[in-house]
Amino acid sequence: PRQDMTLLVEDIHKSFGGVQAVAGVSLSVGAGELLALIGPNGAGKSTCFNMLNGQLKPDRGRIVLKGQDIAGLPPRRIWRLGVGRTFQITATFASMSVLENVQMALLSHAHRLFDIWNPVTREDPARAMALLERVGMAAQAQRPCGVLAYGDLKRVELAIALANDPALLLMDEPTAGMAPSERVALMELTANIARNSGIAVLFTEHDMEVVFAHADRILVLDRGRPIAEGLPAEVRADPRVREVYLGT
Ligand code: ADP
Ligand code: MG
Repeated sequence: PRQDMTLLVEDIHKSFGGVQAVAGVSLSVGAGELLALIGPNGAGKSTCFNMLNGQLKPDRGRIVLKGQDIAGLPPRRIWRLGVGRTFQITATFASMSVLENVQMALLSHAHRLFDIWNPVTREDPARAMALLERVGMAAQAQRPCGVLAYGDLKRVELAIALANDPALLLMDEPTAGMAPSERVALMELTANIARNSGIAVLFTEHDMEVVFAHADRILVLDRGRPIAEGLPAEVRADPRVREVYLGT
């Protein structure tokens, strides 16, 4: 086990009644690294994510973030410790502007959410604009989130996640519902930001071309268990992966 990793997961398990959703998953992600978690539907990917963000408590196993065991802590504490996430369902306020949404995320990070209503103490827009520049959305800062194209909304959500200054970013199917060209653009952006800012990224993705193009390493699950792990080229060539997942 690599102790210098941002995230270190050791042998986590989770059952729902008789269903063993996750049965012994270990992984690690370092700063600036992108690890893809892949596998067929029902493999246990989302259950892993939900244990990492605190929505589910593992039955056993360790989840260590920057040296601290966070397994079973409530979601809010885990978020405070620097675990960001993007949502499958959009988490922005449609009638508020892009800029206001990001300002609100910054206030929330600073425990000052109520200041959004106070024009005097309101968050300085410069920091929010800087985040929007990082995700390529500065030109649309004044538009309400509700009118944005889907791919642009995903960029705003990335800015909102970055407002929490995460050490680890969890993205469960971030590109679901997006056109192929938008998928590539979002993952390229995510990879650039992760590498430049030293953020560890764990993501799931159905589009194998996107996975092979952007993941540094890949972990393959099948029925709650890891069946392969390695560099994209290694995983692509693994006969078990081809059989279970790629169907060839
Ligand atoms: P994936 O995200 O890889 O598609 P999931 O983690 O969502 O897989 O699901 C893994 C298994 O656990 C599936 O068999 C699923 O039906 C089951 N499962 C997931 N969440 C629950 C839950 N809250 N209650 C009961 N069973 C669940
Ligand atoms: Mg899932």
